[in-house]
Amino acid sequence: MENFASLHFMGAAGEVTGSKTLIHFDHQSFLVDYGMFQGEKTSKQKNWEPFGESVKDLTAILLTHAHMDHSGLVPRLVKEGFRGNIFCSSGTAALLKIMLKDSAHLQLEDAEYANRTGHSHHKPALVLYDEQDVENTLRHIQEESLNEWHQLGDRVSFQMLRAGHITGSTFIRFKFKVNGKQTFVTFSGDIGHDRLITVKKPTSLPETDYLILESTYGDRLHQDEDALEHLAKVINQTIHNNGVLVIPSFAVGRAQEIIYMIRVLEDQKKIPTIPVILDSPMSKEATAVYLEHSDDFPEDVTFALNLRKFFPSKFEMIKSNQQSREVVDRRGPMVIVSASGMLEGGRVLHHLKNYLPSEKNTVLFVGYQAEGTKGRYLQEKAKTLGMMKIHHEEIKVKASVESLNSLSGHGDQEDLIQWLKSSPSKPKKIFINHGTSHSMMAFAARIEKGLGIPCEPILEPRKVELS
Ligand SMILES: [Zn+2]
Repeated sequence: MENFASLHFMGAAGEVTGSKTLIHFDHQSFLVDYGMFQGEKTSKQKNWEPFGESVKDLTAILLTHAHMDHSGLVPRLVKEGFRGNIFCSSGTAALLKIMLKDSAHLQLEDAEYANRTGHSHHKPALVLYDEQDVENTLRHIQEESLNEWHQLGDRVSFQMLRAGHITGSTFIRFKFKVNGKQTFVTFSGDIGHDRLITVKKPTSLPETDYLILESTYGDRLHQDEDALEHLAKVINQTIHNNGVLVIPSFAVGRAQEIIYMIRVLEDQKKIPTIPVILDSPMSKEATAVYLEHSDDFPEDVTFALNLRKFFPSKFEMIKSNQQSREVVDRRGPMVIVSASGMLEGGRVLHHLKNYLPSEKNTVLFVGYQAEGTKGRYLQEKAKTLGMMKIHHEEIKVKASVESLNSLSGHGDQEDLIQWLKSSPSKPKKIFINHGTSHSMMAFAARIEKGLGIPCEPILEPRKVELS
């Protein structure tokens, strides 16, 4: 059979960040996601690599969702001359407004810090893009409704379907018409599961010929854990110890889950009322986006929202850095939900400096900690060593360190298999991306053996032909 299109996997190949795939079809090219590489320094360096193809020939960019590892480099393309449409859902568009601005802001802060201290690869330190580039990017965004077909060219159209990962998250299904025949190619983006309490579960996978499937947790299961029970246990322990529970969360998705879970536990009388502080301006803005896009909420959350039972009863959102620093003066048990879930910077670091040295306190991780991050270090090494460096200071680690894996916005191996099985027919081939090499290989073996679908793990950036 003749090749009709090609896919160029430019990132998330053998790793979990930098998601980006270029589709060539009919002398046109479309990008699905254009995300940042995150984590280790060598990974971050890749954010500076040139696009490698003509930006001006790029017809459109389609974004599965607003997480920076899927959309964080788009302003770089606009800066380099991209003038086409950026298609996404309305929830994604709303989140991008705050997340891209925050990304530009963080880069500026990092560059200023590097210039002051002389820690920089570039001299002087540079930013990938600035706030003006973000403003220019936002003007190209075209919000699209879910499920409907949208025309991209004479012979290609796409639809966005609910991925159940964060608000506005989608998977994208293309329909190519070649020689009177239709071929469907679907990009999973990040796929959620039915245990998240603040987003509706993923839509079933419709018929597709080719599937590009994420595999963040392709080699793992995390369903056995009862997240609510576990969280109740940690909170009750914190109250018993008269300690502080620090939850390094992710500003978008995880923070909202945690906040609502605490409210649910209060209402179920599984925990007493405890002061809960959300210390992240980004989480505050993201929470507002969640509330505005309540279509994405499961029904019981909408119901709770109408009864004003979404937030914990003693809930406070902290605004200024000053207020954040003053938290340490407060007495009695409390929960601090902070952003920067992998401890890569921000306010959570000064909370850790304050609370890690006492065994009364607990740090609870609620998401994946990428290799090379401070989060992974605290999770795997610092507790055993009893020490970790924060802002060049040696900090004693006596607090308990716990992890709640089932709260991840990513489905585990079984969730992804169930999603595959929800399709009325088997794809003829699955390309596995967005996972470590180990996860990709294990997941490919599981699918081939269990479902009999040929799988090709994308272990490094490369092109593949579709026929
Ligand atoms: Zn994501």
